[in-house]
Amino acid sequence: MPISEDTRATPRYTPLDTGRPRHRRLLRRSLLTLSAGLLATAGLLALLQPDASALPRQTETSVPLALSALTPTAPPAQNGFYIEETRVKPGDTLAAILQRLGIEQKGLLGFLTRDPSARTIYKLYPGRSVQAAHDAEGKLAWLRYHHTPADRQGGQVLSRWLEITPTEDGFKAVEDSQAVGTHTQLAEGVIQNSLFGATDAAGIPDNITMQMADILGSRVDFGRDLRKGDRFRVVYETYTHQGQTVSSGRVLAVEFENSGEVHNAIWFDSPDGSSGYFDFEGRSLRGMFLRSALKFSRVSSTFGMRKHPVHGYWGGHKGVDYAAPNGTPIHATAEGEVTFIGQQRGYGNVIYIKHDNRYSSVYAHQSRFAAGLRKGSRVQQGQLIGYVGSTGWATGPHLHYEVRVNNAPINPLSVDVPLARTLEGKERQAFMVALGGHQQHIQMLAALQDNRSLLAQR
Ligand SMILES: [Zn+2]
Repeated sequence: MPISEDTRATPRYTPLDTGRPRHRRLLRRSLLTLSAGLLATAGLLALLQPDASALPRQTETSVPLALSALTPTAPPAQNGFYIEETRVKPGDTLAAILQRLGIEQKGLLGFLTRDPSARTIYKLYPGRSVQAAHDAEGKLAWLRYHHTPADRQGGQVLSRWLEITPTEDGFKAVEDSQAVGTHTQLAEGVIQNSLFGATDAAGIPDNITMQMADILGSRVDFGRDLRKGDRFRVVYETYTHQGQTVSSGRVLAVEFENSGEVHNAIWFDSPDGSSGYFDFEGRSLRGMFLRSALKFSRVSSTFGMRKHPVHGYWGGHKGVDYAAPNGTPIHATAEGEVTFIGQQRGYGNVIYIKHDNRYSSVYAHQSRFAAGLRKGSRVQQGQLIGYVGSTGWATGPHLHYEVRVNNAPINPLSVDVPLARTLEGKERQAFMVALGGHQQHIQMLAALQDNRSLLAQR
């Protein structure tokens, strides 16, 4: 059964969850944020004995409301300062932000909009934090715009912010930064309606959901292959600054059960520098072809999952058609060279990519091409090459996609994915060590899911 449209407002789990989804989510999240090292698998499993009477009997209102009620209305004092915080909203202005923070400092708005040293505040990114500290007399001590919550540079991740302080004759602004704290987060879920429905219910950030789809993109077409009952477990990094989670980092390990078939991956920092994702057998996940030329996203998931190809492969038709709104980005499914970019009868705006001596791929009916792309350009796997349209013989906006072997069309949905490489020797040994830790996490999450489905069957 295909997955239907995302219904975020009504997360549904097993029958057991009905009536108190928020509480269970909270319980699960608090369990999972415990440092995995401290948490012996056996201990967790003991907590989750398949005995319904052992489950906490709290009502839906008690836990979440108690937490929000505890949030102090008066700002907490820190080192003699009172700190106020607000988040940038879409379409926000500096004036509105200063007003929300209760700042009425003369000349500050002018300084912020004109002074070159404050230029990072010209760009207000929705969701980012702005803090103001006042002393006991209500005088502004500093204003901070946390414009870059987590910036990976080499082996370090830094949180960067702009700090503005009053001076005798005005203000000064300086950039500051600090290494963030890195934590490992575990999460799991079962798909009822959509992948985003399941990841939202598990509190997984969009960035992590999209990474999961990217990492396994050579094995699973997340726009078309997902089924109700598919399960996933994921281990990922989160970054904290000043005791708050500021962003999520990299997926460290992921396992995805699609129609009963298990796909998995871990991030491996290879000693020889070619780091990437490998399955539990040590095979690179950079398969030759991605399963789809349309990237999975929150937007695409709502049409991709509902609509199947306009027509299938056979019956005189040489490719697969993906219905998608006009302007949806198209990505090269494999690395190669552009051998044709332009108009053709029937195909409209079309791109041909040659991957090696045997394989090539074709992307037709595009509304426009990616800027700078021309005949002879090298493209990477996953690179943006154009946008969905309805040029040529097309009744509505869709991507017509073909894979050819020795210039003869083959069914792209059945292309075997030639594997890039398998880890061997010293690399393999290092990989097995890295795998051990993550596999334990994944097994723990799988046990948790098994317990939950057992409970649901009672
Ligand atoms: Zn077609």
